Amino acid sequence: MGLLLVLGAVLVWPRASTPAPVVEPFLPMFGMAVLLTEGLTAHLLYTQYSVSGRPIYAALSGAYLFAAISVAVQMLAFPGVFSPTGLLGAGAQSAVWIWVFWHGGFPALVAASLALRRVFPRGSQRRGYKWLIAACLTAGAALIASAACYVAIEHVVWLPDLIAGSSYRALAENPIAIAVVCINIGTFVGLVATTRLRTMLELWLAIALLAGSVDVVLTIHAGARYSLGWYTARIAAVCASSAVLGMLLREISHLYRSLHRAHESLIQSSLRDGLTKTFNRQYFDTQYPDLLDVSANAGRPLSVLMVDIDYFKQFNDNFGHRAGDDCLRAVASALQSGLRRPWDFVARFGGEEFVVVLPNCDTSTAREVAESLRRAVEALDISAPHSPQGRVTISIGVSTSAPQGSATPGELLEEADRGLYRAKRAGRNRVEADAA
Ligand code: GH3
Ligand code: MG
Ligand code: MG
Repeated sequence: MGLLLVLGAVLVWPRASTPAPVVEPFLPMFGMAVLLTEGLTAHLLYTQYSVSGRPIYAALSGAYLFAAISVAVQMLAFPGVFSPTGLLGAGAQSAVWIWVFWHGGFPALVAASLALRRVFPRGSQRRGYKWLIAACLTAGAALIASAACYVAIEHVVWLPDLIAGSSYRALAENPIAIAVVCINIGTFVGLVATTRLRTMLELWLAIALLAGSVDVVLTIHAGARYSLGWYTARIAAVCASSAVLGMLLREISHLYRSLHRAHESLIQSSLRDGLTKTFNRQYFDTQYPDLLDVSANAGRPLSVLMVDIDYFKQFNDNFGHRAGDDCLRAVASALQSGLRRPWDFVARFGGEEFVVVLPNCDTSTAREVAESLRRAVEALDISAPHSPQGRVTISIGVSTSAPQGSATPGELLEEADRGLYRAKRAGRNRVEADAA
């Protein structure tokens, strides 16, 4: 972007003073664009300050506020924008002098902000001074802008004439022009040399200063309003005012995306069991009663499976708790993979017990699902010498709510639990359903 701006300026340079058509709406549109971008940048930088507490942000926010005030007053004072001679009692020289103060003041304030970093290195600021620093820096910048505009409007007679008609050749011949160019280029070079543009803010601030330098050099060289160079310089000014804003908006969109991802993963982790990654007990406790209610209202059955790993204490005793955890994960994964319908779910009920909820599923289907889950765990073939089968197995109790049944969530769960204990008593590694 910086190269493009310089290239554009080089191309326009030989014809910069060529008069171009006076497009009256151009200036108010330009003024509005710059005012909005400078104002928004000031606001966003201030927000960064209130979050990070780093005075550089408050100081830069002040610099952008200075520019926003300057452009707003310049537009009001500019002949032909709101009135033929300019509002606020401005004289013919007022707008050009506001331009000089604006384009000299902004880089000077940026340079002062950078110098401030040496006064307040990272982390040195004390909390109590946060608002005092902010007030001094932003209100100070606003005050300087107001004072400069006041002088340019009320006491413009103190200042030499720079413009005659639409020609401001006198500006190019005035040493103040050299000073404005030097302060722009000097701040740009200083920023690049001292920071090496390591952060995005430094990089985009440098682009803003480069665009500002192009604007100043081209404006002065063009020598007249509504010339080719003058129009090109206004475009450079829009780039200068929007560079940091673009970077901040990009950063905000990036933050929004990260926040959204973090929020999603937080929701997921709050619903999942840490070890097995199945849903957790809290999820089951909130979802299951609701699903049972919906099923009863729709006149459909809902089945619950209580699943318990057989002889698991001995498994831990034989192989240790880490192997026990691996076994729990493998069983949980087999249970999850064994469910086919998207609304069925497994939750860890506690310890080595899982509960499976099968909405819209009658007893015989639930029994088939349970049997297939039992076989899936058996097929894992996890060695368990203490078990009669020689491998890890599960027992399952099944209960099903009658369509339009009145069983409460607790009653249905107790029924599945009773089925589980019947399966355990009958020798384990089996499925027992309620009689209903
Ligand atoms: P049964 O066949 O009657 O179900 O016997 P069991 O040994 O499986 O049942 P019991 O209730 O006596 O023991 C359950 C064991 O599950 C005890 C506990 O150490 C183990 N356990 C519970 N939660 C975890 C866990 O998160 N990780 C591991 N490794 N073991 C667990
Ligand atoms: Mg148990
Ligand atoms: Mg057990």
